[in-house]
Formats: sequence, C-alpha cells, structure tokens
Amino acid sequence: MSDPRELYQQVILEHNKKPRNFGRLEPHTHAAEGHNPLCGDQLELTLFVKDGIIEEVRFQGHGCAIDVASASLMTTSIKGRSLEEAGLLAEQFRAMVRGELDPAREPHSLGRLTLFQGVKDLPVRVKCAVLPWATLHSALAGEAVASTE
Ligand code: ZN
Repeated sequence: MSDPRELYQQVILEHNKKPRNFGRLEPHTHAAEGHNPLCGDQLELTLFVKDGIIEEVRFQGHGCAIDVASASLMTTSIKGRSLEEAGLLAEQFRAMVRGELDPAREPHSLGRLTLFQGVKDLPVRVKCAVLPWATLHSALAGEAVASTE
C-alpha cells in the first residue's frame, strides 16, 4: 500500500461503495446544488453551521466515482471545522488539483485530501473533483446553485 496511486484507487472505490455523510440534513442552515454538465455530476449539499463551526454536513446526488469520493472525503474533512478553515481547505484543494499547489513542497492542511493530487494529470476529471468544493463555496456564500461551467 505504499504506492500512492494504489491507495488513491482504493480510497475512491471505498468511498463510492460507502459514501460518508450521505443524505440530506434537516434542519440545515446552508444548502446548495452543484452541477457539472461536462460529466453529468449532480449533488446537493446541506450544512448545519453554528457559531462559525460546521457541525454537520451531508451530501446526496449522483456522479462519477471521483465526484462522489471527493464529496465524501470533503464532508469528513470539513465536519467540525470553522468556516475559515473550510474556506482555506477549499482553496488549497482547488489549487492542488489544478497543479498550482504541490503538497509535497508547500505548506497545506489537506491531510488525506492529498490523495486527489493525481487528478491534476486528468484534466477532464478536475471539475468532478472540484464540484463538491464549488458547491460548498456557494452554500456558504448563500448562493443556491453552483456550476463548474
Ligand atoms: Zn464526474
């Protein structure tokens, strides 16, 4: 399991089979829908934020393996974090999958999210990986719909 590519594949498969925090949160304080027309990924994100902390987060929808795994790992990464921390993670994730941040050389707080760094070599998949984070950004900004277009 020392090959990062193998680990990446395993994590993607595992999160597709058993997505974390799947469903719809009621009540919630923030919600948004995300669409990636290029691939057909669709997801709805609901969050419960209290005193600036993301206490609960759920997602539902359908998408390709990378989209679902990214959404699943995103929810586990932002749960319990402050809005500032979540915003920073979103920026770092976006930069990483676009090849603008090298997690091996630059400081970051991505943790297991670095598993997605290989996506930068798959340009058509970048939007799939980013969609959950774009939807998070929309939800926290009070926008109802996010699109990768
Ligand atoms: Zn996709």
